[in-house]
Amino acid sequence: MLPEEIKHKLSTLARPGWRPRVGPAVPGARSKFGGLPLLKTDESWPCCGHCHQPMQLFVQLDSQDLPVDSRAGFGDGVLQVFYCTNGEEDCEVLGHAHLPFSDANLVRVIPRQQADGFDALPVGIPDAFTEQALTGWQRVTDFPDRQEMAALNDDVPQGMVALLQAHRPAPQPGDKFLGWPHWVAEVDYPSCSCCQKPMKFLFQIDSTDTLPFWFGNSGCAYVFQCESNLQVLTMSWEGRP
Ligand SMILES: [Zn+2]
Ligand SMILES: [Zn+2]
Repeated sequence: MLPEEIKHKLSTLARPGWRPRVGPAVPGARSKFGGLPLLKTDESWPCCGHCHQPMQLFVQLDSQDLPVDSRAGFGDGVLQVFYCTNGEEDCEVLGHAHLPFSDANLVRVIPRQQADGFDALPVGIPDAFTEQALTGWQRVTDFPDRQEMAALNDDVPQGMVALLQAHRPAPQPGDKFLGWPHWVAEVDYPSCSCCQKPMKFLFQIDSTDTLPFWFGNSGCAYVFQCESNLQVLTMSWEGRP
């Protein structure tokens, strides 16, 4: 392969991603990290299936607050990621919170027609995060990591690998919407519980980036969605070796 062909190949693998910008909590803001979640009518704060205590809201994103060119990201509604941080019950370990479809976390999209409810009343969660409001997005260009690249192309020319390395860090660590997952252990897209197909990567939550939280020993978490049934979502995380 000639360098120009390699460049072209790389450009076909580039994906836009968006890093969230946050600021102090804004009353009534729909898109945020931590704080009080939006609830559907007649619903109570989502609880962990393992310890039955309220789970922390990690992220809430209204699709209307997404970057303009990614609005189709997860459908029309409000994405929520809840995760049990109850250390007393050790839900992260015993509830296998790092695995997809664990009951020690909850990922969902409240469809727009059901998103007219109210924020939950405060509940007592030990070490609750201070709420931060989403204030904007910083666009980044992401490339798949070396392993994923190898999985996508059986025969990766050395020149392309070298070019890819020149784009370090690729893909970006830290919190981000879309782009390529920054796998810290191995490429691992979960199979959808409904259709069994590999799920689409949607959002990355990295240890101590926006939220003061470590997934295990500084792991990185990934949120996924089924491409055909937008109501099926999950998350997983990998520990850094
Ligand atoms: Zn729990
Ligand atoms: Zn599916």
